[in-house]
Amino acid sequence: MSKTKQFDLASLLSEPLLLNTKNYINGKWQKAVSQQTYEVINPASGASIAGVANSDAIDAANAARSAKKAFASWQLTTHRERANLLEKWHQLIIEHTDDLACIMTSEQGKPLAEAKAEVGYGASYVKWFAQLAMQLRGDILPNSVPGRLQTVEKRPVGVVAVITPWNFPFAMLARKIAPALAAGCTVVVKPAEDTPLTALAMAKLAEMAGFPDGVINVVAASREQTAIAVDAWLKDVHVKKLSFTGSTQVGRYLAERAASSLKKLSLELGGNAPFIVFEDSDIDAAITGLMAAKLRNGGQTCVCPNRIYVANAIYDEFASRLVDKVAALKVADPFDDDTQIGPMINQKAIDKISGHVKDAEAQGGIILCGNIEPREGLFFEPVVIAEAHNKMALFSEETFGPVLPLFRFSSEEEAIEEANNTEYGLAAYFYTQDHRRIHRVKAQLQAGVIGVNEGAVASEVAPFGGVKASGYGREGSHYGLDDFLQITYVCEGNLY
Ligand code: NAP
Repeated sequence: MSKTKQFDLASLLSEPLLLNTKNYINGKWQKAVSQQTYEVINPASGASIAGVANSDAIDAANAARSAKKAFASWQLTTHRERANLLEKWHQLIIEHTDDLACIMTSEQGKPLAEAKAEVGYGASYVKWFAQLAMQLRGDILPNSVPGRLQTVEKRPVGVVAVITPWNFPFAMLARKIAPALAAGCTVVVKPAEDTPLTALAMAKLAEMAGFPDGVINVVAASREQTAIAVDAWLKDVHVKKLSFTGSTQVGRYLAERAASSLKKLSLELGGNAPFIVFEDSDIDAAITGLMAAKLRNGGQTCVCPNRIYVANAIYDEFASRLVDKVAALKVADPFDDDTQIGPMINQKAIDKISGHVKDAEAQGGIILCGNIEPREGLFFEPVVIAEAHNKMALFSEETFGPVLPLFRFSSEEEAIEEANNTEYGLAAYFYTQDHRRIHRVKAQLQAGVIGVNEGAVASEVAPFGGVKASGYGREGSHYGLDDFLQITYVCEGNLY
């Protein structure tokens, strides 16, 4: 039997305490009760990084019990106390950026520079919600009856279950956990199978920051055990809210399962973003925006443009200038300094990407650069496809990889109709220099996030979330705090 290759992550870290493989429950690092582990794999080499706790329903239930117990006192902490702890967590995250980025790149495969940028981006949410914790307040309502005081209190919803995908292992957690804690909730977290080490490192930093036991709990699980573990939370009436980021298919399933205990839900689901380039665009700016929006994280981003609509009048010029940029990208080991695209996350992702490209080619698409097959292992060179049309699989399905299909359009109406011709509604982008067109087009696009002459739209101050099958709820901004609060109306009568 061949020995599995090992990836020595510990030797890359300046703070070895950040490498954890056990669950974090009630302030203790614990093996799964079953003693089972599963292997976390480095996607660039296929080597094993670590054996991590493979939790089941018992571990998940233990985590929920711990979060419920901690909630009793955490909800009563002062806003200043929560803000201070979040500030301290933020400071530790920033201090350990390089280690966190190393852990993330090892298990997720994004280029190291992107991983560092993700730590900074995720940390900005922690800082933001630390500040918002100090601004939580209710209302005094207009007085309608003499001797009556009517007030509104905003209270934490309770224990929150947090489930996140592998593509942004740090930021997705930061923008859920930070508002939950700022609101006074406690959390039970289940990171993606592929990327538990980043989540466990975040928990370690939270422990170092001094959060009380049970306020943050993290359980890891393999794909086979995930549904079993999470089901313990879905059935638990003490888990009051589910905050999920992932595919629409799993989001629908979770919403159905959570219905019996009437949980509050935030669902950040799949996307199929259009990117429209009108004939009056600044083409250089549009290409820069497209490269930023599409190729970050190798195209494995929910807001990635999946369908690029280019006006007939500039189609050929746009395609040729785009190909010059895309063909020059370096696809290589994510720890190499100048790598721009690392490996895809796993074989299933490669099969989907390759399947979409082959299907497009079979249906008349012209491959302008890149290849229909992966280069080696999980590496896939970016592909630009001309003459894309809406019978291709990549029109209706999220490719989640470095594939840039160029669709033609001949009128504004056609571009808008085709852009909206999808069940999804997460992000949409368009480029034009005509200010009347800006107002017309943005008013008609069906998306929760719209980029106008801008490809990098996410920010901690802005509400992020979708419409249609891309889900509901918002993350970031002050709206992102509301999702973790409930409103209590208090009516005091006969005061005078
Ligand atoms: P996924 O398969 O839906 O998984 C997301 C999370 O759900 C993972 O932690 C996964 O655990 C867990 N999960 C899967 N099946 C489950 C079940 N039956 N019960 C409970 N939990 C379950 O999505 P993915 O492939 O990891 O991520 C890619 C998708 O996420 C894309 O569709 C992308 O657009 C979307 N996404 C959306 C946003 C947004 O903000 N809207 C952001 C990023 C990504 P395992 O890993 O163990 O399977």
